[in-house]
Amino acid sequence: MPQYTFKCNNCGEYDVWKSMSDDLARDRCPGCSSETYRVFTLFNVSQMDAKLVKKIDEGMVPKVVKREELPKSNIRKKEKNPRPWMV
Ligand SMILES: [Zn+2]
Repeated sequence: MPQYTFKCNNCGEYDVWKSMSDDLARDRCPGCSSETYRVFTLFNVSQMDAKLVKKIDEGMVPKVVKREELPKSNIRKKEKNPRPWMV
């Protein structure tokens, strides 16, 4: 289960473990029960695109896209030699 950072306007930031099926954008503050919002922190930076890291650093919130919402034509584009058995 991944760990996420949320920010409470009263109490500050805190970390919480959530499963992917939970609401990942909002949470309740464990201290004062007010609504909190997710803070995007940098992790696995070395594996991420430098441009993306810069954008997140500048405060951009990445859009959450589900696999079903991805355009089908893009899914296999990263493979260098897709389906070599196909003519
Ligand atoms: Zn709070």
